[in-house]
Amino acid sequence: MYDIVITGGAGYIGSHTALLLLDKGYNVHIIDSLINGFYESIRSIQNIHKNKKLENKLFFYKCDLRNKELLRKVLKSIQKNGSNNIDALIHFAGLKSVNQSINEPIKYWNNNVLGSVNLFEIMSEFNCENIIFSSSATVYGDNNFRKIKESDELRPINPYGFTKLAVENCLNNIFHSPLNNWGVIVLRYFNPAGAHPSGLIGENYKGKPSNLFPFICQVAEGTLEKITVFGNDWETLDGTCVRDYIHIMDLAEGHLSAIEYLLKNEKQFLTINLGTSEGVSVLNFIYQFQETNNVRIRYEFGDRREGDSAFSVADSSKALKILGWRAKRTLSDICKDGWKRQKMIAKL
Ligand code: NAD
Repeated sequence: MYDIVITGGAGYIGSHTALLLLDKGYNVHIIDSLINGFYESIRSIQNIHKNKKLENKLFFYKCDLRNKELLRKVLKSIQKNGSNNIDALIHFAGLKSVNQSINEPIKYWNNNVLGSVNLFEIMSEFNCENIIFSSSATVYGDNNFRKIKESDELRPINPYGFTKLAVENCLNNIFHSPLNNWGVIVLRYFNPAGAHPSGLIGENYKGKPSNLFPFICQVAEGTLEKITVFGNDWETLDGTCVRDYIHIMDLAEGHLSAIEYLLKNEKQFLTINLGTSEGVSVLNFIYQFQETNNVRIRYEFGDRREGDSAFSVADSSKALKILGWRAKRTLSDICKDGWKRQKMIAKL
């Protein structure tokens, strides 16, 4: 069976993807510094799989990608623990807060870009030349309220987006180098939310969360009095930002389709949006959460937040055409599964 390395696999998207890959029989090797991830997520994956033997299927290596020496040792161990060949790597590890990146750009360039370049260097040493990279809708420029296609202009408006674009460009240079033979799929995610339907894994965070959904959950459980909606004067129907919220399990399935494609087809460089193609305003998300879970969410309007845009919705037709993937779950599923997870953590 194939050996897949997942950087950042103790984090939100990585842990859900690892779970699906294990379901499909892949051997999974997780590398994570735990700067924002949790070892408990690895234990929860083992719990969900408790009837299946994960010995020699799931491995964890604590390592920061910026520590090249350690990373080299880790890849050596992965070769030893697996079948001597690393078939593909999914690169989730990175910092992801737009707001924090505006205040601490050096930290973002250091972690996201330096960490990635180190990783690619060590991957080359080990002839590991198949990669899926977690990029983001933040690489796109102004979209004039149209659904975003992969071919649209790339013009980030915050440091986080710039670091994602820099890593995309680095991978593109590697792909075009005559000395390399890499297969690259860049996945540009829109807004992942929700949790595994068991509630055993979901979005964990250290410090303040950066996405809307965890804030909604905190208000629902009573640890936060109300949510601040950043701006009600955007040029949208109800004045709040419109986003493309995708269920975390749909997103994880998108990675599964991408891995299958990468392993079966000739080497290429692809960029693919993963979203639902449905726009939902922040207010409508809050209303849906209230309706699905029968809880009240108090909110207030605040100022617009630097680095935000009015409208960010994917055109996901390329994912369907190339990977045969489309998001299947609804906004209500996101609200139901995410709230179940939150109640399990809070033991409500
Ligand atoms: P997350 O913070 O939950 O997971 C990221 C993981 O990477 C964490 O476990 C963290 O400990 C690890 N990590 C960070 N820097 C590292 C380093 N230098 N070395 C080793 N491990 C490191 O985030 P997530 O939501 O799972 O996001 C995964 C990826 O997807 C990120 O690259 C993020 O930028 C991208 N992305 C996320 C979203 C989103 O809304 N969640 C949207 C678009 C793109």
